[in-house]
Amino acid sequence: MPYYEYELCDGDCKACGGKFTLRRPVTAPDLTKCPACKKPVRKLITGFSSPQKLKPLSVSDAKKAGFSVYKRLGKGEFERQ
Ligand SMILES: [Zn+2]
Repeated sequence: MPYYEYELCDGDCKACGGKFTLRRPVTAPDLTKCPACKKPVRKLITGFSSPQKLKPLSVSDAKKAGFSVYKRLGKGEFERQ
């Protein structure tokens, strides 16, 4: 599944830092609201994005926000945390 980058349209969010990446199926509809704060978000069209520029999300914060967090175990293998 690809990662999508989202940014809050307005305001600030403590859970997502105002900008976050989310792994979503290609078939899933675009996210319109932050899962944590329910504020409107827009998908960023960044092409080759640099995730290391983003504020890191802690696993516990991400889970609180309803994100699915995966730990990469190896090539093509992920463990759901
Ligand atoms: Zn948020």
